[in-house]
Amino acid sequence: MPVQVIDGAPETLLPSHLQKVDLKYLQWGCDQANKYFQGTVILSYPLTKLVNGTEFFKIVLQESENSCSKTSTINVLFFGRLADDCGKVVHQGDTMVVAGFNVAKSPSANEDDRHCCHLEVSEDAGSAVYIYTKPSTVTASETASMPVAPKYTYTPLNHLKDGTIVNLYGAVKFFKPPYISKGTDYCSVVTIVDQSNVKLTCTLFNGNLDALPKIYKIGDIVRFHRIKIREYNKQMQGITGIGFASLTFDGTVGAPIVPRTSSKSYSFTEEEQKTIEELRTWAASNLSVCGPTAKLSDVQPMLFFDLTCQLVGKAEVDGSSFLLKVWDGTKCPHPSWKVLVEESDLEGDKVLIHQLRNLIVDILVYDNHVKLAKSLKVGSFLRIYSLHTKQASAENQPDVSYVEFHLHGGTCYGRGIRVLPENNPDVKELKAFMDSVNLTESQNVESMSSMELDGIFSNLSYQSYSQRCQQLSVTVLTDHQHLDDTALNTILNSSVPQQYRIRAKLRTFKPQKLYQSVKLYCSKCNSLQEVPDGDDFDLILRDCAASAPNPEVHNSLWYDSEVWDTENQGQRKIAVHFVKHDELLQEPEDTLIMVQGGMLKEIRKLSRRFKCIIPVRSTKEDLELLDLSAPFLLQGKIWHYGCKQCSNQKTIQSLSSLAEEEPSWEPTEIARVLGIEPLQYVFVMKFTLDDGTGALDAYLFDYEKFFQIPASEVLTSSLLQEKMEMIMNILCPPGTKLDDLPWLECFIRSYNVKDGMEQQVCYQIFDTMVAEDVI
Ligand SMILES: [Zn+2]
Repeated sequence: MPVQVIDGAPETLLPSHLQKVDLKYLQWGCDQANKYFQGTVILSYPLTKLVNGTEFFKIVLQESENSCSKTSTINVLFFGRLADDCGKVVHQGDTMVVAGFNVAKSPSANEDDRHCCHLEVSEDAGSAVYIYTKPSTVTASETASMPVAPKYTYTPLNHLKDGTIVNLYGAVKFFKPPYISKGTDYCSVVTIVDQSNVKLTCTLFNGNLDALPKIYKIGDIVRFHRIKIREYNKQMQGITGIGFASLTFDGTVGAPIVPRTSSKSYSFTEEEQKTIEELRTWAASNLSVCGPTAKLSDVQPMLFFDLTCQLVGKAEVDGSSFLLKVWDGTKCPHPSWKVLVEESDLEGDKVLIHQLRNLIVDILVYDNHVKLAKSLKVGSFLRIYSLHTKQASAENQPDVSYVEFHLHGGTCYGRGIRVLPENNPDVKELKAFMDSVNLTESQNVESMSSMELDGIFSNLSYQSYSQRCQQLSVTVLTDHQHLDDTALNTILNSSVPQQYRIRAKLRTFKPQKLYQSVKLYCSKCNSLQEVPDGDDFDLILRDCAASAPNPEVHNSLWYDSEVWDTENQGQRKIAVHFVKHDELLQEPEDTLIMVQGGMLKEIRKLSRRFKCIIPVRSTKEDLELLDLSAPFLLQGKIWHYGCKQCSNQKTIQSLSSLAEEEPSWEPTEIARVLGIEPLQYVFVMKFTLDDGTGALDAYLFDYEKFFQIPASEVLTSSLLQEKMEMIMNILCPPGTKLDDLPWLECFIRSYNVKDGMEQQVCYQIFDTMVAEDVI
């Protein structure tokens, strides 16, 4: 409501994002979008009309707190419908709050000795007015919250104009359930569509979760009041402004028309009832309303679906993941995982959890969903959107598989959790079904599969126990334990190729400078190369920045472009191209950007904020990748390179196909569509092994298994470098006699290498890793 008359203390019912502003801080030219001013009406002028026909109303407000200071009063001017609405209800002595006003210089400041600015209040400015009536002047019938209900007009989605504030109806085509955005506000993204077949994506923020539309599924009908429309890249977008309000209705044809809202005062006319019925009918035949919902009994591995369920238990797993135990009355046809947590950490009725143990599934939720998951009440009904089922198998029993349930971080594809109220039709149906489930039956039929699964987990814990007890060797074998040890002198005198289990000491290793052991490897042409250092990349970037970005290739169907001037650096411009998904910009942590003209320092900074960066330059026709001496992709601290010999580069346009799917931006996928043969980071080291019978040099060629450290990350992490140094110190403590060195259990294989005319025998370490208790 733009004007609300409220019987209550000021500041009740005010949107939480509003901040009070004092007259002494009120200045012309400052952004007052999130400010409100509160004062007592000491004077009001008669309602009148301006020359152009606009209604006009003027009052004087006195600031209650600073009434002794020189300028404690200010003129407030109302225009248009707000002038009309306020002029009819305002009395002297009322307390008034105005929000969303414009500040202008007061032409009468010299004469009336009031504040040098005045406030301008109008619907166009997105203003909202709250009037707190003085008890003595109000009759009993007026004390209830009494909105001044103007008749609203609703704009069809094909008639939206940039810079307007409008009221809308629409059917939900896509939505992201509210999530906590940066800061403390909740954010929800909703794409609506109406009979004009034009869609509008709205980004809604509010500090109060209840103030956002309560959308439960695609096809729901929403009504938005006072939503701001702005044009962005030739597309209209909606954003929350001051006074934004929403109602949500079930989209099912024939369902009762009951608005979901936390507001106690809203207007709703019979005419609107018709609007909703028409939209429902239209949506039923024009929107694919049935979402990917499934029951637990329908669950298949590798599925994304929406689950309606009841929460029976929850537990914190670690800072970035949280366990939810849920059921929906049906039984998952596949054995499902049990996430191990301390009994004492589990919140919920233990007896019930035990009773339902064959029907409950464990869901791990991650990252941005953790905070919300923590706040969920056990017993409540939930809809979990875009839940992922993943097939997994135990390491030591690859033939026995089970299903894991994950709600991954981020909000792609509307991923999230929503609490459903008890009166929701789906909840009513679910409850009725749950009541009919015969628990004793499901308990007695103890399925074979879940017993097998118990076996897997006890085996797993046994295995890690035995590893801890194996103090004799600082390395462990990850396979082929049945082989017997072979002495090194036997190996040296045997035919090639063969595989052996050995027990030896690490006499020395190369390179001693551990960072030199990291190389780039092409699995296609088997070439190894040094990792280029930052200076090489910096030079390439400087070279590219010399030519200005070509504005012709900015903004396309699949990316939005922004250009920045650099300060104090002459004419250099940085262009950032944000790749969109579903025509929407994603959260920075999910976004791939293409950057042109940036220096290394700037690119590093951007890579801390965005998921992926592709450095580019522009030609006359298009953007293109840099030379492959530069990384083709930066992901956090990891720089991905491509093989110059094996890559067959495609145009940057090829990326748009990835942006259309759910873009998880896997480096291998990005490389594939760009026609790049990715190079992999590997550790290449030479170990000189000695078991007393003989010595041989064995190569370690490893991505991450041996050290349990990814080779791709070690160069940019001093922590990982230290860890690696520590490990090498344990495997081969400097200045130690051969007798006192620890034993290493390893697998090695022998093979022939042609070196010119000569055949050379080499040895390579495999299926071996540093023992857990060493790390
Ligand atoms: Zn290659």
